[in-house]
Formats: sequence, structure tokens, C-alpha cells
Amino acid sequence: MAHWRNWSGKLTAEPWRLHSLRSESDAVALAVASAAGGRTVRAVGAAHSHMPLIPNDGLIVDVSGLTGVIETDVEAATAEVWAGTPIYALGLPLQEAGLGLANQGDIDRQAISGAVATGTHGTGETLTNLSAMVAGATIATSTGDLVKCDALTEPEVFRAAQLHLGALGLVTRLRLQLVPAYRLSEHGWYEPFVDIQPKMAAYISDNRHFEFFWFPKTDRVHAKIVNQTDAPPEYPVGKEGAKVGWSHEVFPSRREWLHTEMEYSVGADVGEACMLAIRELYQTHFPEVEWAVEYRTVAADDVWLSPANNRPTVAISVHCDIAEDDRRLFGACEEIFLAHDGRPHWAKVNSLAGSDLARHYPDWEKWWEVRDQLDPTGTFLNDYLKSLRT
Ligand SMILES: Cc1cc2nc3c(=O)[nH]c(=O)nc-3n(C[C@H](O)[C@H](O)[C@H](O)COP(=O)(O)OP(=O)(O)OC[C@H]3O[C@@H](n4cnc5c(N)ncnc54)[C@H](O)[C@@H]3O)c2cc1C
Repeated sequence: MAHWRNWSGKLTAEPWRLHSLRSESDAVALAVASAAGGRTVRAVGAAHSHMPLIPNDGLIVDVSGLTGVIETDVEAATAEVWAGTPIYALGLPLQEAGLGLANQGDIDRQAISGAVATGTHGTGETLTNLSAMVAGATIATSTGDLVKCDALTEPEVFRAAQLHLGALGLVTRLRLQLVPAYRLSEHGWYEPFVDIQPKMAAYISDNRHFEFFWFPKTDRVHAKIVNQTDAPPEYPVGKEGAKVGWSHEVFPSRREWLHTEMEYSVGADVGEACMLAIRELYQTHFPEVEWAVEYRTVAADDVWLSPANNRPTVAISVHCDIAEDDRRLFGACEEIFLAHDGRPHWAKVNSLAGSDLARHYPDWEKWWEVRDQLDPTGTFLNDYLKSLRT
């Protein structure tokens, strides 16, 4: 029996075995052997997810051995990368090839396959999440196949693989749609919430990236705008809120305080109203909470299970210390998010059942059909994912 825990330590598991993937052929052999032996398999990237996507009593498979950029196509602005590559390890090789990710999240510690598995996103109303940047994938399935998919080859598998929840098989490679390499300039500042609120819409539309953290105790925000620049990088790269550099140098922040998190995506048209309702909730019922609330925007996409599917989106995240019981705060926030027709982040705490999720995703059943075809033995489903089947 082995022991596993996620980043926050809130999720643990005692799987039969932990396995480190060494190669693509290893992935195929492992998937087939596990199916034959009736063992569940769940891959793990950087273990940053707060939902029980990984715990199971079979195998937990570390994909970090599959790492690096395989090839780049500058004309098409794409790159094929090994699935376990940490996002931070993509930055420099892509930049040197004249390419970059169009957007990134708050941190760059995740494996690229883990990030796209759950719809990881940054901020920017014209910029999609990472799942929508997937242009192709290679998946080792429990039937012993190495399935390659993109918009033209196995298009339905491709649409399911863009946001795969680790449930289709072991993803070994991803082809990413990129943009020409670019530099960014970041500016951050503090301001009372009531002062920034009337300017929010303009900040969102006038800047490539805008976001803020609202601090409930002071009712102030730390806001950040980030825009493309021709200015040369300033080294060493400055603190959050004062950086100029290549995109992969500017995007990542440090998040060292262990926490749990709930995040919902609501329609951009109700984002501000939802934020105001959350603020009122904190002020009236949770005056003791110090952890900030994050507010970001994400462009609509057509990824089957993307929280931004067919809807310009505002993502609002609430946080809780790992030493505390998050249920009362998160439960109250979730009621507000759901009242605003919110969709949960796949990797962050939520209490939704499959039937609730199905309502949000017109292609929910198709996703499950594709999944079942690739993995008829259910090798890649743990108890949590099984509970979501409608
Ligand atoms: C400090 C912190 C900051 C964060 N910031 C953001 C943010 O800014 N924006 C945002 O949207 N989210 C954010 N998240 C959430 C995070 O991006 C997601 O949890 C993401 O899925 C984590 O990537 P990972 O590599 O740790 O994946 P894991 O948590 O290890 O795995 C996630 C899923 O991917 C599957 N998986 C991983 N690799 C493979 C593979 N090769 N084949 C098959 N399945 C695979 C796993 O089975 C699991 O289902 C943050 C989380 C933390 C803890």
C-alpha cells in the first residue's frame, strides 16, 4: 500500500501502487495490464486539484517523466509537447522557437496535461482557457491503442480530450495552439472596492488582462492590468504587480499559502452582480474571513466540458485555510454562484452531482459516450467520476 496526498494535503489516498511513467509504450502497457487486472488508474500531474479526481485504490500514475517540447511549427504557431511537461518548463523553449501560450493561470507549476484536464485559465476577456488551446492529443487507452486525435482525425475524441478529466486514458502528448512570442508589462495597485467597481467594465475591455483580489477585512482590492509591450525585459523580473518580461516570465505568481478553493464561472453579464452578492455575504455572515476573493474574465469557447462553453465568462474564486472547515463558507458561496447559473471549476471544491453538471453541458452525454468507447472497462474512472455519470 502506498500513500498519496494532493498539494493542499486535504486529499489523501492509499493506492495499491504509485507508478512513474517512463515512456509512451509504458503508458500503453500499464493501461492494458490494469484493465486486464481490474485495477483503476488515475494519472497525476502536479496534484494541484482540490476535487477528488485522483484518489483511488488502484494505481496513481505520475506523468512527470513525460516531459519536454517534442516539435514546434512556427508557421502554424503550434507545438507538440509531452503531456507531463510542467507549464514553467514550456516557457523558454517555446520563446526560443518564437512562440508562447496566449494566456496562463496564476501559477505555472501544473503539468500541461493536468491543466487542460480541468479547464485551467488565466484572465482576459478575449482569451480562452488552456483546454481551448489544445489542437491535438495522443492518448494511451485501456484497449491498448495509442489514439491520436485533432479537429480532423477522430474529431469527437478530440473534443472530449480538450477537457478530459483524466478519464479517457493516459494522455501522452498534446499539440497546443500558440501565438508568436510576446512580452508583457504588468501593473498592480491597491484601491477601495467601491472606487474600482464603477471602472471594472472599462478595465476589462481596455486591457489584455485585468483581475483583482478583493480583501474582505479591508474592503480593498489588489487590481492588476497586464498588456503587451515592446519594452525590453527588466531582470531580475520584479514582484507581482511590477513586471516587464516575456509572457511566461510575467504570468506566474507565487501561491505559497496552502489553501482550499471553490471557483465558479458565471456569465460575464452577471459577473459584477455575483461579486456584489459574494461581498455582501462575507460582510454580513463571514466578517472573520481574511482570505481574498479573486475575480477574472475568460473568453467563450466550444470545448464540450469547458466552464466557458458558449459563454463569455467571469470566474470568481473563494479561498479557505487548510486548517479550517471550509463547508459553511463554501456552502453559502455556492448557493450564490448557483443562483447566478454558475458552473464549477472542475478542479476546485463543489458539491454538484452529475445531473446538475449535465444541465450546463449540451455535450455531456457525448463526452461520456466517447469516454466509454475509449475505456469500456472503466479503468480510468474512480469513485468520484463514477458518481457523476448520469
Ligand atoms: C496554488 C494553485 C493555483 C491555481 N491557479 C489556477 C489558476 O490560475 N487558474 C485555474 O483555472 N486553476 C488554477 N488552479 C487549479 C489547477 O490549475 C488545476 O487543479 C489543474 O488541474 C492542476 O494541474 P495538475 O498538473 O496539478 O493536475 P492534477 O491535479 O495532478 O490532475 C488534474 C487532472 O488531470 C488528470 N491528468 C493529469 N495528467 C494526465 C495525463 N497525462 N493523462 C491523463 N490524465 C491526466 C488527473 O487524473 C486529474 O484528473 C490552481 C491550483 C492551485 C493549488
